[in-house]
Amino acid sequence: MQDKGKSIAILGSTGSIGTQTLEVVRSNPDLKVAALAAGSNVEKLAAQIREFKPAVAGVWTEEAARRLRAEIADLDVKVVSGMEGLLEIAVLPKVQVLVTAIVGMIGIRPTIAAIEAGKDIALANKETLVTAGHIIMPLARERGVSILPVDSEHSAIFQSLNGESADRIEKILLTASGGPFRGRTREQLAAVQVEDALKHPNWSMGRKITVDSSTLVNKGLEVMEAKWLFGVDLDRIQVVVHPQSVIHSAVQFADGAIIAQMGTPDMKLPIQYALFYPDRRPMAGKRVDFFELGQLTFEKPDPDTFEGLKLAYQAARQGGSMPTVFNAANERAVALFLDKKISYLRITELIGEAMSRHRVIECPTVEQILETEQMTYEYISGKVSGI
Ligand code: NAD
Ligand code: MG
Repeated sequence: MQDKGKSIAILGSTGSIGTQTLEVVRSNPDLKVAALAAGSNVEKLAAQIREFKPAVAGVWTEEAARRLRAEIADLDVKVVSGMEGLLEIAVLPKVQVLVTAIVGMIGIRPTIAAIEAGKDIALANKETLVTAGHIIMPLARERGVSILPVDSEHSAIFQSLNGESADRIEKILLTASGGPFRGRTREQLAAVQVEDALKHPNWSMGRKITVDSSTLVNKGLEVMEAKWLFGVDLDRIQVVVHPQSVIHSAVQFADGAIIAQMGTPDMKLPIQYALFYPDRRPMAGKRVDFFELGQLTFEKPDPDTFEGLKLAYQAARQGGSMPTVFNAANERAVALFLDKKISYLRITELIGEAMSRHRVIECPTVEQILETEQMTYEYISGKVSGI
């Protein structure tokens, strides 16, 4: 299908998803990049600006904005900063699709602003749906915009649902690689170091999500993400450990048929699918060879060793502001672990402690979500500095 070109903006362009989105742009010259935003990696962003020529670029601090302006003084690019900058980018008239490749709840406001402005969302930023799914999904329906999943599992479900009716879903089979510690016991996890947790067997991703994959917190967040994206109850979302990461997830329908999407683990496929849906564009790369592979295997997750998954289901069942506590506590605990301030098992312990003292707010507003996030951050910092 020839289309005249689609204009996109990327929040988080210097990260793992952001750079892979730009690789997809490189192979699809009819994609135009209208705006890019990053945290503080000014050098990388400047190089991206020179190559992709957006009209607007955003960074988080005013100091980074000054450095960026100096770096690209010869170009005609508007440099913006802070939340205001992200919001300005989210609603740029030229943009048709906003790619949310930023980490954390910072993505909530720009995502809402973009939906209100009628933009489709290619959503990688799962934290936004986990914490504010009850706001985002109805708003998207009301404004008639599409939330196109970038997360590989959700893209697989979305691809499996193509042409099918969502009310015929019997069960979602959400696959998980099991991470680097699959098969270990809790005792064996006590000595895990940062370097061990950063070795993902199949996927290459940002640091935080790599640790989240090892604790199965990522899978827990994905269960909540799936619930919102596809409107399916938690009881009908089953996590299946599948160490080869070939089946990226599947849907079991009311007649018993299971439709799955398979492929090599490469985020560029779900990114490209989201950007061109319903078109399926060609993409170069390694293909799955069933003979080379020999077999696909499946296991039940072990919720006693990987408490992250158990706590996620608990947070999702309690609902309201509890998923925000789960997510914020994990975010802060993982940062502390990556800084070598706490042990590996302490991550899920801290999430459990933060959840057990939280009084749930039903249907929280964005302000309440962000307040809950802040309170949870403070709680975790207080706990850890108090050791
Ligand atoms: P990353 O850490 O590699 O990149 C994050 C990006 O966000 C960077 O460009 C960073 O500069 C930017 N950023 C951070 N704070 C910012 C701020 N205040 N203002 C503007 N930009 C800011 O993360 P990632 O692995 O690419 O993950 C991005 C999102 O996608 C996460 O929600 C993650 O859960 C999700 N996701 C990632 C993968 C993957 O393969 N990496 C897969 C599925 C889903
Ligand atoms: Mg995923």
